[in-house]
Amino acid sequence: MTTTLRAVQGDITALTVEAIVNAANASLLGGGGVDGAIHRAAGAQLLEACRGLGGCQTGEAKLTQGYLLPAHYVIHTVGPVWHGGNQAEAELLASCYRRSIEIATAQGIRSLAFPCISTGIYGYPLELAAQVAVSSVRQALQTFGHLDEVIFCCFSAHDLQLYQRLLDAAPSPSASP
Ligand code: ADP
Repeated sequence: MTTTLRAVQGDITALTVEAIVNAANASLLGGGGVDGAIHRAAGAQLLEACRGLGGCQTGEAKLTQGYLLPAHYVIHTVGPVWHGGNQAEAELLASCYRRSIEIATAQGIRSLAFPCISTGIYGYPLELAAQVAVSSVRQALQTFGHLDEVIFCCFSAHDLQLYQRLLDAAPSPSASP
């Protein structure tokens, strides 16, 4: 089955997809950036649901409902903090994308949107993060191939351009972490 991959620019909380991914922190109790925006838009019930999850390790992901969001579900994943690239950042970031797709597939979710995980407060260089994002999603879809659409939701026009360039390029096996 073929999954459409595309990049859009905008606020992930406004997307009408079945699930959005949250770039959360390990407590899952809310934070700044996209995490704060998702909690504000989903309402207090999201925080209540997250309290019951017992946190989340870096590279892992956990599912909740979307509450007041247009999306039915939120997949909370914890990206790595960038420490220069020698602390398994690429593997951990790839794991965020892979685990999110695995959870989405297990839940029967057909459309999923990712933010640019780790590239805000966590400091992961955008271009490197985008390469990991696109290659790990392509790889995961070969194993968990039941989604109709995966969207990379970019906050800035610059991020969008970068993703569009990567998506237009042919998949490269050597780009995998
Ligand atoms: P992290 O802690 O994983 O770095 P951030 O939330 O700080 O997470 O940033 C991750 C990315 O999400 C950044 O590219 C940031 O510009 C982007 N972002 C922030 N708010 C939103 C939003 N409402 N919708 C989509 N992307 C967002």
